[in-house]
Amino acid sequence: MAPANAEPSVDLRLQERAAALAPELTSLRRDLHRHPELAFEEKETSARIARELSALDLEIRTGVAKTGIVARIRGGGTGGGVRRTVALRADMDALPTPDRKKHVDYRSEVDGACHACGHDGHVAMAVGAARLLAERKADLPGDVVLLFQPAEEGIGGAEPMIAEGALDGVDFILGQHMLPSIAAGEVGVSRGPALAAVDEFLLTIHGRGGHGAYPHLTVDAIVVAAQVITALQTVVSRSVDPLDAAVLSIGMVKGGYNFNVIADKVELRGTVRTLSRALRPEMSKRIATIVRGITEAFGARFDLEYIQRYPATINHDSGVELFLGEAQKALGNDKVHLTAPSMGAEDFAYYLEKIPGAFWWIGCRKDDAEDPGYGLHHPTFDLDERCLPVGAHLLAQSALTYLTHGADR
Ligand SMILES: [Zn+2]
Ligand SMILES: [Zn+2]
Repeated sequence: MAPANAEPSVDLRLQERAAALAPELTSLRRDLHRHPELAFEEKETSARIARELSALDLEIRTGVAKTGIVARIRGGGTGGGVRRTVALRADMDALPTPDRKKHVDYRSEVDGACHACGHDGHVAMAVGAARLLAERKADLPGDVVLLFQPAEEGIGGAEPMIAEGALDGVDFILGQHMLPSIAAGEVGVSRGPALAAVDEFLLTIHGRGGHGAYPHLTVDAIVVAAQVITALQTVVSRSVDPLDAAVLSIGMVKGGYNFNVIADKVELRGTVRTLSRALRPEMSKRIATIVRGITEAFGARFDLEYIQRYPATINHDSGVELFLGEAQKALGNDKVHLTAPSMGAEDFAYYLEKIPGAFWWIGCRKDDAEDPGYGLHHPTFDLDERCLPVGAHLLAQSALTYLTHGADR
């Protein structure tokens, strides 16, 4: 049950204070943008964050999961007697991609590394939220734990952060991600699944090579691979309920030596994405069945390595309702969108498998004709920095409301 509280849910002072932080958040984001660091190498980024936080008198643990930070704001308030702890998470890593923006002075100064997924902005917003909440530390009716996480891109920093105690004593977690399909000043959230589970497979088909003129003496691995590729297209189109989303994409085919040589081996690599927990294992079973049947029919052999990466990021209803309420009050109903799930993936999923919470989208579309901000992971991706105080405020406000009322209203 929520304790009675006479304070209005959206604190106008908090929103104004967030707006006043805009220049500092922009400057921090640009500094990080100039100095991107790849997964598990976020040393300077982490040191910079620790410096920002040390001014706020928090309990800071550095070196968590190599470069991560866990910082606690220990609230001094009593509230309604129920003490809760909420975590706010930001990822810190950049992508191994060049920065091809033309008209800005904060381009990456590191060859082959760029904050093309907006994690620089995520850090700035979380630092902003830390500042907003630390300013009212004496009255906070619970604790706020800030998680600055390494290696979201591909390798995965959330799992080692959890293994090293990031969620110890934490009741609820909130996180956010830039989304350039939504304008700055607007936000989105998905009920239920927000992002897909991502798996990867590496399939090697072994045939028997030979001369291109004598196919009857060979087992042509390219022909077998072609049948496998075609048949795998039926996994989603024929075996999965059309209302249950899944993707199977083969992104790499490697095999063969010359125009007149029959290949003995072909390697295929692909990605499999699913939204429902039940469908995920079915996909790998179906793939294995098809590969086994086709290779056997042609007298070939196969090795199939199936690697489960991130699970689906599934929002908890309590987190979504909490966020929707705060966002609608702060921005107006027309600026808050219920978004369809994305078939992209996020290792925020691991946190939501442990404790309730929500992950939402911060609109960041940059309408700049000279330097249009293309999508996430594009070498020209950029964000409209007006989104930074919005994200800082919503993170802080949602945390404050959770600490005051819980999330079961
Ligand atoms: Zn990304
Ligand atoms: Zn990202």
